[in-house]
Amino acid sequence: MATDSFGRRIDYLRISVTDRCNLRCIYCMPDEGVPFKSHEEILALEEIEHFAAAAVAEGISKIRLTGGEPLVRKGIVEHVRRLRKLTGLEAIAITTNGQLLTRMARDLVEAGLERVNVSLDSLDPDVFAHVTRGGHLSDTLAGIDAAFAAGMHPIKINVVVVRSLHQDLVSFARMTMERPIHIRFIEYMPVGGESEPSPGGACVSETSVGGWTAADHVPSDEILAELMVKGAEAGLGALEPVSRDAAPGGWGPARYFRFAGAPGTVGVISPLSHHFCGECNRLRLTADGKLRTCLFSDDEFDARTVLREGTDDDVRALIREALAAKPESHNMRIGTLRRMSQIGG
Ligand code: SAM
Repeated sequence: MATDSFGRRIDYLRISVTDRCNLRCIYCMPDEGVPFKSHEEILALEEIEHFAAAAVAEGISKIRLTGGEPLVRKGIVEHVRRLRKLTGLEAIAITTNGQLLTRMARDLVEAGLERVNVSLDSLDPDVFAHVTRGGHLSDTLAGIDAAFAAGMHPIKINVVVVRSLHQDLVSFARMTMERPIHIRFIEYMPVGGESEPSPGGACVSETSVGGWTAADHVPSDEILAELMVKGAEAGLGALEPVSRDAAPGGWGPARYFRFAGAPGTVGVISPLSHHFCGECNRLRLTADGKLRTCLFSDDEFDARTVLREGTDDDVRALIREALAAKPESHNMRIGTLRRMSQIGG
């Protein structure tokens, strides 16, 4: 079992398999895009598998593949199949925009993938196209249907709540009345936007960084209050808390609720308003092979060089070194050097 220097159990690794994406979400990538890393800079799938094996040997038992968009990485299905064979790995999951799931869901399940999180910020086709800069809502909805048909479980929807988008939260809540789908409303996080490292991070009172502004951040308590009031008005009934035992098996800090009688749930993830650093259980590997100990910390460990030039023991030692350096808290830091598409969410 891996623990960090604050006694937290670290058993979850998020791996970004590519920095490329087939969408350009307004809060994730700047309009002009980000310069993609060269082929040589990006880890080969074999290198990722090497790292994953070392991480599992160090106590990681859950792996999530992310990106960029993980489903655009060539060879991803076989990659899942090989990762799934790691002894000690309990489960593998993917976070995707869902656009390619219609084609790939069955093969992914057959390769050993069960869990999927689909990012979907609006059920209005025009808002969806605006947020994704040109994506088609129908493709993601068809992808979710394909995930159900292929037997993926649990199926969760990530909705980043951005005030100026005026998203209709109740439209998502309605989805939970129809099938066992789990909607997670995520507070918009100030990731990216910093061109220079600033000692101790930028100031919390800074209200704008990259595309993020404090005015666009909606605290999860406000999200829940809106769901309660507007859900009742829409005839969805009372919103009841779901106990941890009854919640859709999660690896993270979501708090779940259910409209009475619904097969699905609604949850909130509050990285800013109720930060959950004390329960943080994760490490992140970027597509270019940098190990990050905190989403908001730009201190990275160069796994790529160790994978290319070192031994298995060196890779494991690097993971232990990173664990020992994992910060206690994100300290409400605003802004990071990399955008979310380069970190993996
Ligand atoms: N392309 C995949 C997808 O769309 O799910 C995986 C990568 S994406 C970077 C992972 C997640 O990060 C998505 O759910 C996305 O909405 C979320 N995300 C990106 N920027 C964010 C931000 N500033 N605050 C909160 N969530 C963000």
